[in-house]
Amino acid sequence: MKILIVGAGPTGLTLAIELARRNLIAKVIDRRDSASTLSRAVGITSRSLEILSHSGVSERLIKEGIPIQSACLYQGNHLALSLPLHSDSSYFPTILGLPQDRTEKILADSLSSMGVTVEYQVALNKFQEEGQSVVTLSSNGKEEEFDLIIGADGIHSTVRKNANIPYYGFDLPEQWSIADVELDGWPYPQTFTLVQVKPGIVVVSVPIGKNRYRFVGNCEKVLEAFPMPLKIQTVHREGVFKISVRQAKYFSKGRVFLAGDAAHCHSPVGGRGMNLGIADAAQLAKCIIENNLDQYSPIRQREDKRVIDITEHARKLVTAKSVVARIAFSTILAAANHLPLIKRKISQFVVEF
Ligand SMILES: Cc1cc2nc3c(=O)[nH]c(=O)nc-3n(C[C@H](O)[C@H](O)[C@H](O)COP(=O)(O)OP(=O)(O)OC[C@H]3O[C@@H](n4cnc5c(N)ncnc54)[C@H](O)[C@@H]3O)c2cc1C
Repeated sequence: MKILIVGAGPTGLTLAIELARRNLIAKVIDRRDSASTLSRAVGITSRSLEILSHSGVSERLIKEGIPIQSACLYQGNHLALSLPLHSDSSYFPTILGLPQDRTEKILADSLSSMGVTVEYQVALNKFQEEGQSVVTLSSNGKEEEFDLIIGADGIHSTVRKNANIPYYGFDLPEQWSIADVELDGWPYPQTFTLVQVKPGIVVVSVPIGKNRYRFVGNCEKVLEAFPMPLKIQTVHREGVFKISVRQAKYFSKGRVFLAGDAAHCHSPVGGRGMNLGIADAAQLAKCIIENNLDQYSPIRQREDKRVIDITEHARKLVTAKSVVARIAFSTILAAANHLPLIKRKISQFVVEF
């Protein structure tokens, strides 16, 4: 079977690995010059580690990543909730902190050791289905025929647009800011910290390497907004971004399939984006190998929608300005402090999905 994977982000790379380990070699193209250097996603869940354990990728991720052992939620200076992060059901006990460029490098190296090389500087321009095949035209002027084409080409997916698949949802007006920094003497090297600075403003810190942390918040300058004293050694990256919450109407149409951000996007609250793409890729590879491609779209659409809905509830709760929503959030935190079952549910969601 001839398969084209468009996009060598975490989704496309995972899909190519999951196929290659079952002896099906796909062609992978990416419009970039080389592998990405952006540190976007920083949390790898135990579900992703389970998926990537079959190809030996997890071992390498675990060697480099920081196991995040606990989460602390502050309302102003008050520690409202502290909980251990632990999965009861997974072989991999917790979430790993690692910048996305390192994750992608490990995925790309593993793929290359399986004999598949990503073709960089090749963009898919367009395609059309002709009978039993898909005819593609790439930026190198080549026309090629494939049995299947997979859009793992991110939020602005050419594959999705070319297939006329609607991407329903909305764009949030507020701006978020991000910073990756090296800190001296930060006392929580394995803790995820969320602070509600004031009503409507939330900032988060996540360990992503030795003395290295990701800060993100719905404010203009996250480092200035973070209320605890920080001894900053180096600022590796600062930036701003906006959030869209969208899902493709269907994840497949004829011989065309969508996975990862091409199929859905949402807020970074909960850090699920990359992990959902990895899960899409694993499911799609399984459906290709088992020849039940009809199953892919309904299975992944349902699961991704569930996770996106939970993430949206969490975003609304932690960024709420209204008095009612703030009381609801405080009540949930107080209940979680007293009810181990709620603590475990929150912990499981953070670690596993
Ligand atoms: C600031 C920021 C912070 C984030 N933080 C987190 C987090 O903490 N946790 C988390 O899980 N997620 C996070 N995300 C989301 C995460 O980065 C994405 O969900 C993830 O990168 C999706 O992977 P992907 O492979 O589906 O798409 P992408 O990573 O976008 O990869 C798509 C690839 O397709 C290529 N491409 C596009 N068009 C074409 C074409 N026509 N032809 C050939 N190639 C093409 C692109 O060059 C790119 O390499 C964050 C995102 C941002 C922006």
